[in-house]
Amino acid sequence: MKKVLSRDLKLLVRHEVIKVDVRDGKKIAFARNLDDNSVYEFQADEILVAAGRISNSDILRPEKTGVKADKQGWIKVNEYLETSKPGIWALGDAIGKHMFRHTANYEAELV
Ligand SMILES: Cc1cc2nc3c(=O)[nH]c(=O)nc-3n(C[C@H](O)[C@H](O)[C@H](O)COP(=O)(O)OP(=O)(O)OC[C@H]3O[C@@H](n4cnc5c(N)ncnc54)[C@H](O)[C@@H]3O)c2cc1C
Repeated sequence: MKKVLSRDLKLLVRHEVIKVDVRDGKKIAFARNLDDNSVYEFQADEILVAAGRISNSDILRPEKTGVKADKQGWIKVNEYLETSKPGIWALGDAIGKHMFRHTANYEAELV
Protein backbone atom coordinates (compact mmCIF):
# COMPACT_ATOMS: atom_id res chain seq x y z
CA MET A 1 0.00 0.00 0.00
CA LYS A 2 2.77 2.36 1.03
CA LYS A 3 4.75 1.56 -2.12
CA VAL A 4 1.80 2.19 -4.44
CA LEU A 5 0.59 5.36 -2.71
CA SER A 6 4.13 6.76 -2.58
CA ARG A 7 4.16 7.00 -6.37
CA ASP A 8 1.75 9.95 -6.18
CA LEU A 9 1.86 11.11 -2.57
CA LYS A 10 4.36 11.99 0.09
CA LEU A 11 3.36 9.50 2.75
CA LEU A 12 4.50 9.99 6.34
CA VAL A 13 3.96 7.16 8.82
CA ARG A 14 4.99 7.08 12.49
CA HIS A 15 4.42 10.83 12.73
CA GLU A 16 2.24 12.59 15.29
CA VAL A 17 0.66 15.92 14.36
CA ILE A 18 1.58 18.28 17.19
CA LYS A 19 0.34 21.62 15.87
CA VAL A 20 -1.54 23.23 13.02
CA ASP A 21 -1.28 26.90 12.14
CA VAL A 22 -2.32 29.42 9.52
CA ARG A 23 0.54 31.50 8.10
CA ASP A 24 -0.13 34.11 5.38
CA GLY A 25 -3.46 32.43 4.75
CA LYS A 26 -1.81 29.03 4.22
CA LYS A 27 -2.51 26.02 6.41
CA ILE A 28 0.59 24.57 8.00
CA ALA A 29 0.83 21.30 9.92
CA PHE A 30 3.73 20.18 12.12
CA ALA A 31 4.34 16.50 12.66
CA ARG A 32 6.85 14.90 15.02
CA ASN A 33 8.73 11.84 13.85
CA LEU A 34 8.12 9.23 16.55
CA ASP A 35 11.48 7.57 15.84
CA ASP A 36 13.92 10.48 15.91
CA ASN A 37 11.77 13.36 17.32
CA SER A 38 12.49 15.59 14.32
CA VAL A 39 9.62 17.89 13.36
CA TYR A 40 8.40 17.95 9.79
CA GLU A 41 6.54 21.05 8.63
CA PHE A 42 4.25 20.98 5.64
CA GLN A 43 1.79 23.22 3.91
CA ALA A 44 -1.63 21.96 2.95
CA ASP A 45 -4.67 23.12 0.97
CA GLU A 46 -6.96 21.43 3.47
CA ILE A 47 -6.52 19.45 6.68
CA LEU A 48 -8.66 16.37 7.26
CA VAL A 49 -8.88 14.96 10.75
CA ALA A 50 -9.38 11.19 11.04
CA ALA A 51 -9.40 10.84 14.78
CA GLY A 52 -10.92 7.37 15.01
CA ARG A 53 -13.28 6.18 17.70
CA ILE A 54 -12.80 4.83 21.19
CA SER A 55 -15.12 3.12 23.64
CA ASN A 56 -16.75 5.13 26.45
CA SER A 57 -16.63 2.17 28.84
CA ASP A 58 -14.18 4.13 30.96
CA ILE A 59 -17.02 6.44 32.02
CA LEU A 60 -19.97 4.04 31.66
CA ARG A 61 -18.31 1.19 33.59
CA PRO A 62 -20.45 -1.64 32.13
CA GLU A 63 -18.49 -4.16 34.20
CA LYS A 64 -20.40 -2.95 37.26
CA THR A 65 -23.48 -4.66 35.80
CA GLY A 66 -21.60 -7.88 35.05
CA VAL A 67 -21.19 -6.99 31.37
CA LYS A 68 -17.59 -7.75 30.50
CA ALA A 69 -15.51 -5.61 28.13
CA ASP A 70 -12.16 -6.28 26.50
CA LYS A 71 -8.94 -4.34 27.17
CA GLN A 72 -10.01 -1.52 24.84
CA GLY A 73 -13.39 -1.25 26.54
CA TRP A 74 -15.42 -2.86 23.75
CA ILE A 75 -18.26 -5.00 25.12
CA LYS A 76 -17.67 -8.73 24.68
CA VAL A 77 -20.47 -10.65 22.98
CA ASN A 78 -20.94 -14.16 21.63
CA GLU A 79 -22.27 -15.06 18.18
CA TYR A 80 -25.82 -14.23 19.36
CA LEU A 81 -24.72 -10.76 20.56
CA GLU A 82 -25.27 -11.87 24.16
CA THR A 83 -23.01 -10.23 26.72
CA SER A 84 -21.55 -12.02 29.73
CA LYS A 85 -24.65 -10.95 31.72
CA PRO A 86 -27.76 -13.03 30.89
CA GLY A 87 -30.57 -10.88 29.48
CA ILE A 88 -28.24 -8.13 28.21
CA TRP A 89 -27.28 -7.93 24.53
CA ALA A 90 -24.91 -5.47 22.87
CA LEU A 91 -24.57 -4.33 19.28
CA GLY A 92 -23.19 -1.64 17.04
CA ASP A 93 -20.12 0.40 17.84
CA ALA A 94 -20.21 -0.70 21.50
CA ILE A 95 -18.87 -4.11 20.54
CA GLY A 96 -16.04 -2.56 18.51
CA LYS A 97 -16.19 -4.88 15.51
CA HIS A 98 -17.49 -3.40 12.24
CA MET A 99 -18.31 0.17 13.12
CA PHE A 100 -20.80 1.06 10.40
CA ARG A 101 -24.35 2.30 10.57
CA HIS A 102 -25.70 -0.57 8.46
CA THR A 103 -23.96 -3.11 10.74
CA ALA A 104 -25.61 -1.55 13.80
CA ASN A 105 -29.00 -1.60 12.03
CA TYR A 106 -28.56 -5.24 11.00
CA GLU A 107 -27.45 -6.31 14.48
CA ALA A 108 -30.41 -4.42 16.01
CA GLU A 109 -32.77 -6.48 13.83
CA LEU A 110 -31.05 -9.71 14.90
CA VAL A 111 -31.26 -8.82 18.58
C1 LIG B 1 -17.63 11.05 11.49
C2 LIG B 1 -18.30 9.72 11.29
C3 LIG B 1 -18.70 9.35 10.03
C4 LIG B 1 -19.31 8.11 9.81
N1 LIG B 1 -19.70 7.77 8.54
C5 LIG B 1 -20.30 6.59 8.33
C6 LIG B 1 -20.74 6.23 7.02
O1 LIG B 1 -20.58 6.98 6.05
N2 LIG B 1 -21.34 5.02 6.87
C7 LIG B 1 -21.56 4.18 7.89
O2 LIG B 1 -22.12 3.11 7.69
N3 LIG B 1 -21.15 4.49 9.14
C8 LIG B 1 -20.54 5.68 9.39
N4 LIG B 1 -20.13 6.01 10.66
C9 LIG B 1 -20.32 5.04 11.73
C10 LIG B 1 -21.74 5.06 12.28
O3 LIG B 1 -22.08 6.39 12.64
C11 LIG B 1 -21.77 4.18 13.52
O4 LIG B 1 -21.21 2.91 13.22
C12 LIG B 1 -23.19 3.99 14.02
O5 LIG B 1 -23.75 5.24 14.34
C13 LIG B 1 -23.19 3.08 15.24
O6 LIG B 1 -24.49 3.03 15.76
P1 LIG B 1 -24.69 2.71 17.29
O7 LIG B 1 -26.17 2.74 17.50
O8 LIG B 1 -23.93 1.50 17.66
O9 LIG B 1 -23.97 3.90 18.07
P2 LIG B 1 -24.33 5.46 18.08
O10 LIG B 1 -24.97 5.89 16.79
O11 LIG B 1 -23.06 6.15 18.50
O12 LIG B 1 -25.44 5.58 19.21
C14 LIG B 1 -25.09 5.47 20.56
C15 LIG B 1 -25.98 6.45 21.30
O13 LIG B 1 -25.82 6.24 22.69
C16 LIG B 1 -25.79 7.47 23.32
N5 LIG B 1 -25.12 7.33 24.60
C17 LIG B 1 -23.80 7.15 24.86
N6 LIG B 1 -23.58 7.07 26.17
C18 LIG B 1 -24.80 7.17 26.76
C19 LIG B 1 -25.24 7.16 28.10
N7 LIG B 1 -24.40 7.01 29.12
N8 LIG B 1 -26.55 7.30 28.33
C20 LIG B 1 -27.43 7.45 27.31
N9 LIG B 1 -27.07 7.49 26.03
C21 LIG B 1 -25.77 7.33 25.75
C22 LIG B 1 -25.04 8.37 22.35
O14 LIG B 1 -25.32 9.73 22.61
C23 LIG B 1 -25.60 7.91 21.03
O15 LIG B 1 -26.77 8.61 20.66
C24 LIG B 1 -19.52 7.23 10.90
C25 LIG B 1 -19.11 7.61 12.18
C26 LIG B 1 -18.51 8.83 12.39
C27 LIG B 1 -18.09 9.22 13.78
